Amino acid sequence: MKVPFIDFTEQHQTIKKEIETGFKEVFRRGDFVLGKAAEEFEAQFAGYCDSKYGVGVNSGTDALYLAVSALDINLGDEVIIPPFTFIATALCISYTGAKPVFVDIEDETYNLDPKKIKQAITKKTKAIMPVHLYGQTADMDEINSIAKEYGIAVIEDAAQAHGARYKGKRSGALGEVACFSFYPTKGLGAYGDGGIVVTSNKDIYEEVKMLRDYGREGRYKHKVKGYNSRLDTLQAVVLSAKLKHLDKWNEQRSNHAAYYGKLLKGIKGVKVPVAKNDRTHVYQTFAIRVKNRDAVCAELQKRGIGVLIHYPIPIHLQEAYRELKHKKGDFPVSEALCEDVLSLPMFPHMTKKQIEFVCENIKELVKK
Ligand SMILES: *Cc1c(COP(=O)(O)O)cnc(C)c1O
Repeated sequence: MKVPFIDFTEQHQTIKKEIETGFKEVFRRGDFVLGKAAEEFEAQFAGYCDSKYGVGVNSGTDALYLAVSALDINLGDEVIIPPFTFIATALCISYTGAKPVFVDIEDETYNLDPKKIKQAITKKTKAIMPVHLYGQTADMDEINSIAKEYGIAVIEDAAQAHGARYKGKRSGALGEVACFSFYPTKGLGAYGDGGIVVTSNKDIYEEVKMLRDYGREGRYKHKVKGYNSRLDTLQAVVLSAKLKHLDKWNEQRSNHAAYYGKLLKGIKGVKVPVAKNDRTHVYQTFAIRVKNRDAVCAELQKRGIGVLIHYPIPIHLQEAYRELKHKKGDFPVSEALCEDVLSLPMFPHMTKKQIEFVCENIKELVKK
């Protein structure tokens, strides 16, 4: 048996017809950029997130960059992020000239630790950017109350958390502004690159809308030096078709996670993810912690099981961020995770048999 890390072929079958019809419509209209379907999807997705506005952009990275820019974060400013995340969380801050300031994560949820935020706040801090890692939201009440106390903004990096809820509220409505990625492997993925900025703040909405379209106010009137970063109309067709199924697919992921949890429970040397009961986990990634990770990872791959490591190196120890002069030991919780975390196959249409096969192999390998 082979178990791929991700396989969306079956998922595609359920939306194929709708996508073909939608594509034909776009071909007929010819509105490939900023078209009707893109505008419709922006409204649908914002509504899905319990938010007012959505602005479709080129990628999750651009969504973050434009959101940070819209908050007027510039050279000399600081933004707080966790070091255990995808590099784009930090890059979007660096693009503006601002500095990412790291705060370690909680050992339980792998998300930004609210208890450690205050000590990292300075006069230059403009925002906190929690990442809802793997599909579970950060502790947003705690984070928002700190932000309020210091008069700084909260930007959600929700690139892995489409549809996740915190105390009943969707990710996308848990800060001033939220950013999602539609990279194909994300919980809601396009058939190419894409992203969206979601907010209920009209000023941020208008600013991001201008920034993604050459800083335009009228057709040839440019208020600021903007960018070319728009969500393709064809991608919006795919995303609209998928959005209708997202809650069901997230539920399937959650059922798979529960089955993994059941089969891996009590195995010495394996720790399964903890889902807090005041929020939902959408399991964009199902990551366990495992003893002898590198050996287990290599052997599973050899046996045809798709496993990956998210993430092997924390951002503060990446060469790209050497100028920040961090060293090993600065953020021990993040560093420990990089040593033993392992992402298992996870996609809505995987089968129980596949999960059983993965778990049997893990069981055998950790015993060694
Ligand atoms: C995927 C991801 C991004 C970047 O999104 P892209 O669409 O790939 O640019 C940013 N942050 C996190 C946490 C991600 O997982």
